[in-house]
Amino acid sequence: MTGKRLPYFEEHTEPLPARIATGLHKIGLAMKQQAWLQANQEGLSATQGQILAALVAHGPLTGSELSERLGITLPTISDSVRVLVEKTLVTKSKDPRHPRASLLTPTKKGAMLGARARSWPEFLAASVNDLAPEEQRAFFSGVMKMIRTLQEQGLVPVGGMCVTCTYFRPNVRTGASPHHCAFVDAPLANEQLRLDCPEHGLAAERARREIWDQFMRPG
Ligand code: SF4
Repeated sequence: MTGKRLPYFEEHTEPLPARIATGLHKIGLAMKQQAWLQANQEGLSATQGQILAALVAHGPLTGSELSERLGITLPTISDSVRVLVEKTLVTKSKDPRHPRASLLTPTKKGAMLGARARSWPEFLAASVNDLAPEEQRAFFSGVMKMIRTLQEQGLVPVGGMCVTCTYFRPNVRTGASPHHCAFVDAPLANEQLRLDCPEHGLAAERARREIWDQFMRPG
């Protein structure tokens, strides 16, 4: 005698985390393809575009700082910077903080291309716009937590996010804006948290863990 069979999709559906990962993989492929297409139109490689965009967003940086922020190896950064200097899109000057390092600054044309490269992920923002406000909030919270986990695993550069910032004071009050940014001395709501803040100051490893624990324990 055979037992009662489960409904088809209960037996033939991958767990939700695996399907979310598949969805993110598809989005990742679309991003790669768009970045490649748009970089090509500008006569750049995707990495060169990312470098120019980072220099426009954060101001002059060294090669090591770029490598850290973009999660790209230093030799790859150095190769791309060499080409950007040859194309007169970036200039090198002595870094007053580290005399042996060079500070990279975009030229006028480099800054213009960098500003355009910053808008490359806009096609994604347009699709996120179609989500309902509560879906956007849940998605943002999920994305932020995923990035934090990947940062802890060393797979995503640690930086730019409020939840790893020395100025971030999580859940210091109740209400719609429970957090506080000590850099600008202003309250922050969950949906206002930054993922790529130019003023970000990286907290020490232990402090990062404490900030996260406090963040995950709403008053
Ligand atoms: S400085 Fe930027 S990253 Fe740091 S807490 Fe303030 S808004 Fe967030």
